[in-house]
Formats: sequence, C-alpha cells, structure tokens
Amino acid sequence: MKKTLIAAALVALASTATMAQGNKFDYNVDRFADIQVLRYQVPGFEQLSLSQKKLVYYLTEAALQGRDILTDQNCKYNLQVRQTLEAIYTSYKGNKNSADFKGLEKYLKQVWFANGIHHHYSKDKFTPEFSQKFFDARVKALPKSKLPLAKGQTKSSFIKVMDRVIFDKNFMAKSVNLAAGQDLITTSANNLYEGVTQKEVEAYYKSIKDTTDKTPISYGLNAKVVKENGKVVEKVYKVGGLYSAAITKIVANLKEAMKYAENEGQKAYIQKLIDFYVTGSLRTFDEYSILWAQETKSDVDFVNGFIENYGDPLSMTGSWEGMVNFRNKAASERTTLVSSNAQYFEDASPVDSRFKKQNVKGVSAKVITAAILAGDSYPSTPIGINLPNSNWIRSQYGSKSVTIENITDAYDEVANGTGFNDEFAYSDVEVELMKKYLTLADKLHTDLHECLGHASGQMLPGVDVGLLKNYRSTLEEGRADLFALYHMADPKLIELGIFKDKDTYKAEYYKYIMNGLLTQLTRIEPGKDIEEAHMRNRKFVSEWCYQHGKADNVIEYVKRDGKTYVRINDYEKLHELFGKLLAEVQRIKSEGDFEAGKALVETYGVKVDPEIHKEILERYSKLDIAPYKGFVNPSYTLVKDKKGNITDVKITYGEGYAQQMLRYSRDYSPLTK
Ligand code: ZN
Repeated sequence: MKKTLIAAALVALASTATMAQGNKFDYNVDRFADIQVLRYQVPGFEQLSLSQKKLVYYLTEAALQGRDILTDQNCKYNLQVRQTLEAIYTSYKGNKNSADFKGLEKYLKQVWFANGIHHHYSKDKFTPEFSQKFFDARVKALPKSKLPLAKGQTKSSFIKVMDRVIFDKNFMAKSVNLAAGQDLITTSANNLYEGVTQKEVEAYYKSIKDTTDKTPISYGLNAKVVKENGKVVEKVYKVGGLYSAAITKIVANLKEAMKYAENEGQKAYIQKLIDFYVTGSLRTFDEYSILWAQETKSDVDFVNGFIENYGDPLSMTGSWEGMVNFRNKAASERTTLVSSNAQYFEDASPVDSRFKKQNVKGVSAKVITAAILAGDSYPSTPIGINLPNSNWIRSQYGSKSVTIENITDAYDEVANGTGFNDEFAYSDVEVELMKKYLTLADKLHTDLHECLGHASGQMLPGVDVGLLKNYRSTLEEGRADLFALYHMADPKLIELGIFKDKDTYKAEYYKYIMNGLLTQLTRIEPGKDIEEAHMRNRKFVSEWCYQHGKADNVIEYVKRDGKTYVRINDYEKLHELFGKLLAEVQRIKSEGDFEAGKALVETYGVKVDPEIHKEILERYSKLDIAPYKGFVNPSYTLVKDKKGNITDVKITYGEGYAQQMLRYSRDYSPLTK
C-alpha cells in the first residue's frame, strides 16, 4: 500500500536529466490508446563493480521470471488471452493495415501494458476494436500446438470461452470492484478468490486471525482463496504450490545473485526470501522483511515478492512485483537530510498526541536508480516506494523508503513542452510558480510521503488496520499525502537548506489542488465515478479542503472564456486545512473508525461533477497527451571470456515495445509452457 504514482500527465517542466551532447537519448517508444510507452536511462550502471553488475543481472532475471504470476493473478484467463493474441499477431500474413488487425494489435498492446484484459488503472475491461468474426477465423487458422488449450479441450470450446472473455462486456467487467454495498469478491474478476463470497472470505479470516497477536502475519498475502469440498481454503503461492514453475525460476536466480551479495546482511535477506518462496510461510516473510528493512549498507537492492494489495478489494493478497535498483549517491543526500529529521516532523505534526510515535524508528531513505521494472511495476511504475507494509515491522524495525529518480527524470523529459499547465493553470503566476519550483517540490513531496508520511503515526492498542476494509488504501494514501503537504510549508525545509525559497511549497499546493479537483478527471471516462485509491485520495483531500475553506474563500473555482480554473487565494489557510484533515485521517486510522473513513471517502472522494468532467476531457483531448505512461526496460547481457567467465554485463536500450513484450513471453513465461 505504500507506493507513489505520478499524478496525471502533470509535470510540464524543463529537463533535469543530463545527457551527453550530440547523443540524444530517445525516450519515446510507442503510443496507443491512452498510453505512451517510454524508455528510461540507467546512469551509473557502468560505474558499478563487476560483482555488483553480476548481482544486478541475476536479480533482474529473478524479477523478469515473475511476470506471468501477476498476469494470472489479475484474471484467470489473462495468460490464455495473451498467448492466443500473440500467436495471431506473430503469424498473421494478411493485410496488416486492415481495421481488424490494427484493432487486434492495439488490444494486445493494452493487454501487455495492463498485464491482462482490464485497464491497469480504471480496472475496467478493455473494449476490443476488432470483430469476433476476425478473431474466430484467426484462431481456427492456427495449429492446435500454438494455442493454450486446456487438457482435452477442443478448439471450438476454447474459442467459445475466449469470445466470452474478450467480447462480452458484461462478463468479468471489472478486475477490482470497490463499489460500496456489493459483494466485492464475487463482482471482482481478479483471480485471487474463486467460488467464494465476501462473507465466506471474511468469516474464514476471522476464524484464523489471532487478534491478540502483537506481531500478526499479513494474512492472505500469498494465497488464493477457494472452496474445496465445501470448505474455504487457501492455495499458497510457493515452490510446490500455486505458481510453482515461476517461483522455482525466481528462486534459482536469487541463489545465483546471492553469490555476489555485497555483504552478509544482504546475503541473509536473500536467503530468507528464498526460504519464504520455498515454504510459503508468512512468518518467514516477516523475518525476511525485518532483515531487508535493517540492511541499509548495500548499494544494490531490490523488491521481489507479493507486495502491494491494491489488486485485492479486501486489501490482503499481494500482487507479484519486482524491481532492481542501486543507490544514487549524490541525490541521496537530500533524503538522508529529510529522514534524519523524522522525529522533528512527527513531533510537529498536528495530530493528537495519542496517535503520534514517541520514537520514530529507522526510517531510511535514499534516492535510487531503477535497473529493471517487473510484475506490478511494469510497464506502469511507481516513482517512490516505502516498504515493508506490515505495520508492526515498520514501527519496531523501520522501513526503507526510496525515490526513483531516473524514472521521474524520464517523465520530466517527455512532459516538457506539452502545454498542459498553460491550459489548466489559472494564470501565468501559477504557471511560473510550477516552472520554477515544481521539480524540487515534487521530489520533496515524494520524499515526505514515502520516508515520513507512511511511517508516521501509530495505531491505538488492539486496533486492526483491516477494519477500514475497502477504504484502507485510499485513507492511507491520503494520510501520507497530507503529512507531506502539511510539512512542506514548514520553514524547517529552508533551515535545512533543502528549499531555497519560501514559496517553493506553493507550487506543490497549486498542482495538488488543480489535479485533485480538475485535471485528474482526464483519467476517468465520462459517467464514471473515481475508483482508484490514489485518485480517490487526491479527490477527497482537495474536495474536503475546498468545502471547508469556502467561508474564507481559500480555494475558488473561476470561469473564464467558458473554461473552469481553480485559484488558491490563501496558501496559509490551505496549509491549516491540510493539518486539520491530517489530524482527522490519522484519528480514523489509529482508531479503525470505519464509518468515519467511509463517510469521508464517499462524501468527498468518489463523485464527479459531470459538467466540469466533460469540459476537462475536451480541453485535454486537444493537447493530445497520453494520460498514462509506462516504460520498457533496458536489456542486460552477460559478456564472457573464452573460458566462460563473466567479464562484464552489458546494458542496451534500443528495444521496442512489442519486441520486448514478445521476448519476455518467449524467454520469461514459465506458467505458459
Ligand atoms: Zn503512498
């Protein structure tokens, strides 16, 4: 639950990435539907030691081997759909400019991007722009060996299933349903539960949860819940269990990586992760998380496992995710400064003292360079991560927080010159404010959100975060955002030398409110509510401040030439409002006040004004910007001498989007063979 995503296509700024003169790096890779695919640079890779390069190499292999797991978790038909479409796509000899083929290509690119048939952000099923007739004929023309038929399945029964999955818009319409009042399990098309109702799942976990346990495991994190012989049971993801073929390959590469560990601490946590994958024991996973959180000396680090629970409407099961990275030493000085003042910010927080941490432990923060993105982080990727997610581990052992700067630099690079802020900001004053300060302000927002925000505060004794159910992620993200927003205006940041100008925070305030009230609507289809947790959080924060600042005209909607803008009239009052709301959201979390959390999110974070929505979409469409972005990875190859010894690891960037996806399907697809 602790990751930061980039806010809409907002950052319209000058470049911060450095590039060699005359050797322009090409960031743009592909464009389709609502997606722009980019590539990112990995500055500093060449300067790693040979041993570190080998470590990175085997960790990237371990990351890529998990791709199919996530795809299967998202929906049980996803792998079959992907394989079938790839088989048609690569064998098609007909007219590639026909509407049907173009439609199929677009759909396949969407499926690759979302790791399945549902949009990665809205969770709605994609609408195919090719005919069922075309699809059926292409499948019929393929040899049986090219199709992922189940054992004993005939081609015609296979086609029937695929037709329903791809073309029936009411079948499995949503991968994750968060609509209040519905059975969130049976109405979600993801593959984390099967044949069970929400009531049954809740009853099952209630029966196995030890509520007196002060160090509870993350129940359900690595399991699919099904009914067997009328009984609700967990099918555990592990070697010999569910996803065994993929997990076995991950483990083999982790073993190889372990040989090049930078120190004993790192070796120990890699071994523990292997133990977890072999046993499936969530106690072992906690032991791993503790070792991982405490090891802060190594430069190379990674995420590999069942991590974030946004894919589960009950916020329990972790989506498989991988990322390999290494420390950006120069930029890390900033986050070290922030994290070493963690206790100052905790004390200065406007929340009730009962909900504050007396001793903020081990918040380690660094700026990293991503070397590979995988699973839930690929191609759409976060710009900041804070882990582990387990609350008691965070409070007793601390957490690691990272800002992924080579990714934000790539975003900044391509956002330059899109005209976005010129269109949506109220006046030149706001445009200038953002031009001047937003790059730094955004980085600080991410630092504060990740290093301190999620790590701040404490639960009242005996309160379980699970009480907040489907509002948990939204409220948690809101809490971290509010913590960051509130403290950004603290003169302490000037004192620390992080901000040079006292107005820097205003750039973030303006961007945040403009995004929360207006521009994030570019990501919502007409007539739809806001569903995704980060979007709901940005909406409820902005809307609540708008409503509660009305008497003082803190935030104002202004109409000019038929266009709607927001203006912030009083930045200091807005700062106070952020503080008030932070205190309330922290109270809701600390007390597990489900009703208040629900009321907050449902009142301020879900509904959309259809008139403004329509207007924003029209203005946005004229700018021709893709609302979502993601990345292809660089490729890593081992360089060997005649005796077979590894002498170097080479990094290359040239790969295209379809090319990479097809290569991954060929080389890293243990669940489809
Ligand atoms: Zn977060």
